[in-house]
Amino acid sequence: MNAVIYDVIVIGSGPAGLTAAVYCGRALLKTLVIAGAIPGGQLMLTTEVENFPGFEEPILGPDLIQRMRKQAERFGAEFVQDDATGVDFKSRPFKVRTGGETYESNALIIATGASAKWLGLDSETRLRGRGVSSCATCDGFFFRGKDTVTVGGGDVAIEDTLFLTKFVNHATIVHRRNELRASKILQERAFKNPKISFVWDAIVEEVLGDQKVEGVRIRDLKTGKQEVLKCDGLFAAIGHQPNTAIFQGQIELDEKGYVVTREETATSVEGVFAAGDVRDFHYRQAVTAAGDGCRAAMDAEDYLGEKTLRVHSP
Ligand code: NAP
Repeated sequence: MNAVIYDVIVIGSGPAGLTAAVYCGRALLKTLVIAGAIPGGQLMLTTEVENFPGFEEPILGPDLIQRMRKQAERFGAEFVQDDATGVDFKSRPFKVRTGGETYESNALIIATGASAKWLGLDSETRLRGRGVSSCATCDGFFFRGKDTVTVGGGDVAIEDTLFLTKFVNHATIVHRRNELRASKILQERAFKNPKISFVWDAIVEEVLGDQKVEGVRIRDLKTGKQEVLKCDGLFAAIGHQPNTAIFQGQIELDEKGYVVTREETATSVEGVFAAGDVRDFHYRQAVTAAGDGCRAAMDAEDYLGEKTLRVHSP
């Protein structure tokens, strides 16, 4: 057990967690961020971020995260680069376990975000890392001169496919409907790009290949007709699920696993707050997550003040 009792532990180090850490630090709360074994959240898997206010020119996702982290460290936030493996919200102070340590705090902010979803095919699991990926920015480079298929019709599917065209010979987007969910500006760029073609009203039923991806079998949802598309890579870009497995039984989650919040960022456990994609399945933007992190930090500060629980008075 770590001897220190923190004012606030923040679990997660994407824009929500890091903004919470900046605000907690500036409020002179003793703050620990359990950053995760692979810190930074989904922005680490992004290339250029064009819509975070304050950056006239695009900034790379990992660079934005690095700046937020340095800002939080400047205000005294401490970081542990490990995953939280369990929590105890039933006793006070709250406890958070990692691989080798248990940490305690009087208030806690959950900012564990969400992760990419998979199609759920056996063949997809078998060929993951052998041509099947959910991260174009991580793996796009390996598909230089090759053909890829992306599944999905949202911002991520289109943005990832546009990114892939820097490397690939051709990219096909297979979407289950006949219109995209992605923002209009991305749609326009994709429709204009000669390296991108679309297959509408279709799903991928099987990823083909023994040692590596050689194609996908798709089914037309209107006609039922099956077809094989030859390709070297399959990118799943079909949305996300919240990272809340460790909170099961400790806190109220909705039927999809998102943290239920009421009264701003307050959760079902007094003193535990939630921010970002772990509770927001609607906006899911870096800037909304950051705003949420600010709110959670201010709510945590108010809570500690009201309960006179600040361990480390300024
Ligand atoms: P999303 O917007 O939820 O899109 C998921 C896409 O996958 C949808 O087109 C959906 O089809 C399809 N889909 C879902 N389950 C499927 C399945 N089992 N089989 C086949 N297709 C399936 O998710 P996202 O693209 O990951 O984006 C997440 C959030 O981040 C969004 O709010 C997005 O706006 C935001 N984002 C913004 C930017 C930006 O502003 N630059 C960049 C990236 C992400 P339907 O359309 O039929 O539902």
